[in-house]
Amino acid sequence: MDIREAIRDKKRIVIKVGSSSIQHQETGGLDYIKLEVLVREICNLRNQGKEVVLVTSGAIAVGKRAVRLGEDDDPIAVKQACAAIGQARLMMTYQKIFAEYNHVAAQILMTKNTIVDPLNRLNAHNTFSELLKLGAVPIVNENDTVATYEIRFGDNDTLSAIVAALVDADLLILLSDIDGLYTDDPNQNPDARFISYVDELTEDLYHMGKGTTGSSVGTGGMNTKLQAAKIATSAGVDMIIANADDMRIIHRIMDGRKYGTFFKAHKDENFYLADYVNAMEQV
Ligand code: GLU
Repeated sequence: MDIREAIRDKKRIVIKVGSSSIQHQETGGLDYIKLEVLVREICNLRNQGKEVVLVTSGAIAVGKRAVRLGEDDDPIAVKQACAAIGQARLMMTYQKIFAEYNHVAAQILMTKNTIVDPLNRLNAHNTFSELLKLGAVPIVNENDTVATYEIRFGDNDTLSAIVAALVDADLLILLSDIDGLYTDDPNQNPDARFISYVDELTEDLYHMGKGTTGSSVGTGGMNTKLQAAKIATSAGVDMIIANADDMRIIHRIMDGRKYGTFFKAHKDENFYLADYVNAMEQV
């Protein structure tokens, strides 16, 4: 069967959205229409019997806006305080919309320790399993409020791949402000070509994935997406990078249509999640 058509049969899906995908670019305020469509798409997948985990950014950005702080590079304590305010607001918004469609949202906040510590990892794994069994939609973010330098993942692209590996997902969909992987930065090079399928992550590809997305919020450029692809595909999870501009892209992808860049899984039998997380560069 065609690799895209096979997506229809995938059961456990992790979807990641970045801050820039759920905010209005001009004001930084939450884009309720996009959030609404995102949640509706997820609820529709749930209604089809699929299991969905959502990894969402936005805590710091939403918190900053709530206390009227600007885009400045604030000290870490200020960012952590903003994350505490913003995460609660973000979850309230998600919960409200999920409830409108009669679905249950649950919050999971993680740090590197959640993965590196075997007992924490087992607990996290068990919690995800139970939530999925209960039919809830786990909504994951980094625990920005307490995560210090040593225990930060740093970006939610990587976090989403780690979550996909932890829950043994069938597919990871990274929604971003770019259509997928290009041979060069399309914002700067009009000759940049789109790559719709990646069988193997090569050095050339890493070289192509320059750290630019044109986004002023969030932390993930193409490099972090390729890092995520490495983790996901080694763990045996197929991955797609696609544009969050229209959230209905989720059901189009799930229908087997050719959107975004598809990274094929190559399960590494020696894959051990904690080693990957330990080896990650600190940000
Ligand atoms: N965890 C951060 C937040 O929710 C964002 C990290 C990212 O954008 O990758 O604000």
